[in-house]
Amino acid sequence: MSHAHGSRVQEFIGDPVSEAPPVAREKLEEIFQDIQSDLRFDHELTGCLNCGICTATCPSAHYYDYSPREIVQLLWTENLEGIYDAMQEKIWACAQCYTCAARCPFGNSPGGLVMLMREVAIKHGMESARNVLRPFSRVMLKLISTGNQLSPDMISKDGFPDWGPNISKVDAPLATLRKAIPVPTLHTTKTAWEVNLKTSVELYTIWEETGVLESLKTIDANLYDVIGDIMDEKRDDWQDFLDDQEEEDD
Ligand code: SF4
Ligand code: SF4
Repeated sequence: MSHAHGSRVQEFIGDPVSEAPPVAREKLEEIFQDIQSDLRFDHELTGCLNCGICTATCPSAHYYDYSPREIVQLLWTENLEGIYDAMQEKIWACAQCYTCAARCPFGNSPGGLVMLMREVAIKHGMESARNVLRPFSRVMLKLISTGNQLSPDMISKDGFPDWGPNISKVDAPLATLRKAIPVPTLHTTKTAWEVNLKTSVELYTIWEETGVLESLKTIDANLYDVIGDIMDEKRDDWQDFLDDQEEEDD
């Protein structure tokens, strides 16, 4: 396993009193390799003093069993099992606020490293990634079908149970309020704003080329299929529009 700073990779894998490791070394190495080979890795991790400044300033560390210092140490010492374990739960506690990156005397970005680990967890279809991302299916569907992440009609008690009692504070006649907005394209609660067809189709290309849709396939195959159908439909609509334009020009 290559690394600019030489290998510190963990030699022993598994429970010391058991012959069988819970996850094969090959799998652990593959996961670490995926994290380490990302172009951002050497930029986000240049060393670690184990000083704990990142954890002291981390809001998530105050509320969860989570420490950016621990994550960075696991990566820096190439602790394959520890990295894998952290990807089962801990990495999802990070709020991605990057306070840690602003404070680290070594110039590391623990939040950025967590982002890499999350992407690899998704790539490998880890259960933790499926569980965390499941509630976002509706958001993803909305984004693909309308270009909006969120629309007023999604803000309901059923739509956001994780908001707890705060959701009742958004109990307002949204349909009426939207009609009061001077811009006619905002007179709907189905979208936050109108995204034109060309932009939607261009976004599909970006999501395909950047591997976002391929990642979704690993996490939720059904949603991937539904989204594929919507994209095909919108691309057909766009092509029809272009054909009509061409006919008008002739
Ligand atoms: S990542 Fe930076 S702030 Fe955190 S323990 Fe290491 S050197 Fe200290
Ligand atoms: S980016 Fe994550 S790890 Fe860094 S301070 Fe914010 S919550 Fe903590």
